[in-house]
Amino acid sequence: MTSVAPVNGRYQELLERLGEISDLGRARALLAWDERTHMPPGGAEIRAEQLATLTRVRHERLSSDALGSLLDELRPATEELPYDSDEASMVRVTTREWEKARRVPSELRGEIARVASLAERAWLEAKGGSDFALFLPHLARNVALKRRYVECFDDFDHPYDPLLDDFEPRATTAEVRPVLDELREGLRPLVAAIAERADAVDSTCLHGAFPIPDQERLVRGLVTDLPLDQGSWRLDTTVHPFATAITTTDIRLTTRYDETYVGAALWSALHEAGHGMYENGIDPALRRTPLCSPVSLGFHESQSRTWENWVGRGRPYVHRIHPRLRDAFPDHFGRVDPEGLYRAANRVVPSLIRMEADELTYNLHIALRFELELEIFEDRLALAELPEAWNTRTREYLGIDVPDDARGVLQDVHWAAGSFGYFPTYSLGNVIAGQIWALAEEALPDLADRLGHGELEPLRDWLRERLYRHGGKLTPAEMIERLCGGPLTVQPYLDQMRRKFTDIYGLDGR
Ligand code: ZN
Repeated sequence: MTSVAPVNGRYQELLERLGEISDLGRARALLAWDERTHMPPGGAEIRAEQLATLTRVRHERLSSDALGSLLDELRPATEELPYDSDEASMVRVTTREWEKARRVPSELRGEIARVASLAERAWLEAKGGSDFALFLPHLARNVALKRRYVECFDDFDHPYDPLLDDFEPRATTAEVRPVLDELREGLRPLVAAIAERADAVDSTCLHGAFPIPDQERLVRGLVTDLPLDQGSWRLDTTVHPFATAITTTDIRLTTRYDETYVGAALWSALHEAGHGMYENGIDPALRRTPLCSPVSLGFHESQSRTWENWVGRGRPYVHRIHPRLRDAFPDHFGRVDPEGLYRAANRVVPSLIRMEADELTYNLHIALRFELELEIFEDRLALAELPEAWNTRTREYLGIDVPDDARGVLQDVHWAAGSFGYFPTYSLGNVIAGQIWALAEEALPDLADRLGHGELEPLRDWLRERLYRHGGKLTPAEMIERLCGGPLTVQPYLDQMRRKFTDIYGLDGR
């Protein structure tokens, strides 16, 4: 570790302050986890107050004058240190968080949270009755507040930039838009070609009756065999799967069981465990600081998808776990060979619901949401016209008609929750995963062989060394540059998808 001798005492003080801020944030995460896993319904009302208090106190500490002057004092000495040293990164990253926290009045933050929580309630009702008109005034208030939020910043080129920045630090619309355009245009012909050969893949083995206790046993066994540090995770059941880290060695994973489709629990558990593996691999020296987090949401998602799709739906791993599925559910998998299971796991079907989409068409769901968000914040689309714009684009990109708004524009919680700028990170995750996977294959020539023998540590160790342990020291652009020696690029992902699905669907080299 490098040193900041002249200001050592002050640096210690910074760490103490950051430790408290982190404790408040993680305590909030734990309460939020509990709310979704174990809390009896009677706790809901006061839990909302408890979460709001922790949020407010944390924000006060983060945006305090005292923290600001401490950072000012430490900046000159730490800027002399290597860019990615703990100290230089700590002061740089905290300064940015402090500046963002200061720019947005707490009154506006409170209002955004309050209006979003009302909007979420209205959204649930609107979705239930497929009634967009009911949701529209709430959506309008959310968007208006987000416009006020954007106005708190003055150093952006596009009004969508500050929204994106909350999830993908320093990423810009100018940088992300061409990436997602290229991704969409690259995938559409592939998805169309697959649609013509839809019958080539049969996934019926994954559907039927799967008693939940048997699924639980299977999924727990698979997660136990992942290279997550022993004694540092637990797995629970929720309606929507998620992962949250209370610290690097306390990873909370959840999954969802569907009695009629075993894939729901299986691959969502691998997905969430991928998020967990990233957090589990962050250097313990960074705990209780703002650096103890993944680079960005896009990077976080790149790792959940790596373990869910590149590993978990990859041929070697699926062949490896075939006997376990056959033993757990002989009626379903007794007559399917490992290759049949691999094909079933990778069936591509354009569908209405993003959360149920396959690996490929998922990106088209994201493309349409991202484009609509841009149009809203560029003032090119009136909110009242959103359902029609949604339906037109669904037909264009996925080739299907939207029967009602519940299965269309009202399906996701994000816009109700005020999370504009979030959607693109899902697809950025795929793009980043493609770039990193290409590197991993180069660095670990026997990777497929290892995965086929159930040896997952070499991949995990390589990812830890190159990515996980560094936490949030670098921005997404800096991390991609360091890993790949260049910018974010779609080509590796498109190449991998074309190779994989050309093989599975027999597309003769398209
Ligand atoms: Zn995820």
